[in-house]
Amino acid sequence: MRVSKYFLPTLKETPSEAQIASHRLMLRAGMVRQEAAGIYSWLPLGFKVLQNIEQIVREEQNRAGAVEMLMPTIQPAELWKESGRYDAYGKEMLRITDRHKREMLYGPTNEEMLTAIFRSYCRSYKELPKMLYHIQWKFRDEVRPRFGVMRGREFLMKDAYSFDVDEAAARRSYNRMFIAYLNTFARMGLKAVPMRAETGPIGGDLSHEFIILADTGESAVFCHKDLVDMPAPGLDVDFDGDLQPLVDERTALYAATEDVHDEAAFMKVSEDKRLSARGIEVGQVFYFGTKYSEPMRANVTLADGSEQPVHMGSYGVGVSRIAGAIIEASHDENGIIWPMAIAPFKVGIINLRQGDDATDAACEEAYAALVEAGLDPLYDDSENRAGAKFSRMDLIGLPWQLIIGPRGLKDGTVEIKERASGERQSLPLDDALNLLRSKNVSAI
Ligand code: ATP
Ligand code: MG
Repeated sequence: MRVSKYFLPTLKETPSEAQIASHRLMLRAGMVRQEAAGIYSWLPLGFKVLQNIEQIVREEQNRAGAVEMLMPTIQPAELWKESGRYDAYGKEMLRITDRHKREMLYGPTNEEMLTAIFRSYCRSYKELPKMLYHIQWKFRDEVRPRFGVMRGREFLMKDAYSFDVDEAAARRSYNRMFIAYLNTFARMGLKAVPMRAETGPIGGDLSHEFIILADTGESAVFCHKDLVDMPAPGLDVDFDGDLQPLVDERTALYAATEDVHDEAAFMKVSEDKRLSARGIEVGQVFYFGTKYSEPMRANVTLADGSEQPVHMGSYGVGVSRIAGAIIEASHDENGIIWPMAIAPFKVGIINLRQGDDATDAACEEAYAALVEAGLDPLYDDSENRAGAKFSRMDLIGLPWQLIIGPRGLKDGTVEIKERASGERQSLPLDDALNLLRSKNVSAI
């Protein structure tokens, strides 16, 4: 992409309404625009980031055996009356009446709808287990939308739902999602710690929140320090094998959110390993048994001919919140620092003298080669001064910058800058291109 053809409305001024770094940087980098409280347009740069996050989530859901589908944003109220949550959900639910005076709502989550889908097609234990998910916009009329996309009212969520014959089988589904989440967040360059959590309005008896540690996080959390740097299980995990030992490894050490915090148990952790901190919830997994299947009569026939409500779990990832969470975890005073896997473009090309024939030609050559290599470059071919190009490139946080100007070209060199370390090196263009090609891996 060429900056001259793109839509990149970066701001010089720091918007006064933004209280935390990620919100400020998303506005300044031209990623999002607020349309109403907690409701955002995703401008082209932000949209690319959102799609990259979504794609990693999708790949790891598929790897764990979940099957993608798409449910609507608008749901009939009847479903929620069946489960008993229509009144319980309260003011967070956006209620809508259509022209025929039918009660509808903008879905805050989809347990009811998927339970209804399941019960209309699946009747026998032989069809189990099943795991379905979608990535769809949700609406929750939050009392205090704030921190930009981190606590929005309309937000993008991946929500998966599992159906199993009994509790033991349901725990295997829970474990699959638990491990898939560790890999998902690791691929995004995030250190997400699973912590025991309250089940809240979803209900049920077993739940973990996946938390990124950050001073600006809204949750108070308590955990064993060793959990923070524990490596992810890795993409070669056998999801059909026994995942319990991998889950046990993470759940044996103390980690809890404040709602279920047990101070006495925490005090048993040796003092130098005790971490009490703040964090951002990027995902949550629940096992809730028959909470929905029982009132909604989602039954399956067992081998002995008897009928029983199906055992369920649900598993959310805050796709749009993660865009903010990554920036919270990865930025400096000059702007965003994208991990390679999430970066909207992998390389930014800076032309230091637009209109100089040799410089323009070298930039064009680099641009074509990087497109060819699949590195999705953003070429700043604008008429701006070099200083403005440098600061804008730092602000939008692409992992690599390729800086090309007449002075270097005279000696046969260009410059490469790594955004994260700030390190620069001069080298011939061909070598620079080879070096960039070698970086084009999305590692776990
Ligand atoms: P919170 O405690 O932050 O309000 P929640 O526990 O109500 O979140 P879940 O029902 O667990 O949320 O939803 C799954 C995921 O969706 C959360 O882990 C979070 O990442 C994301 N999410 C929830 N509410 C919002 C919101 N208002 N804005 C953006 N993302 C959200
Ligand atoms: Mg939650």
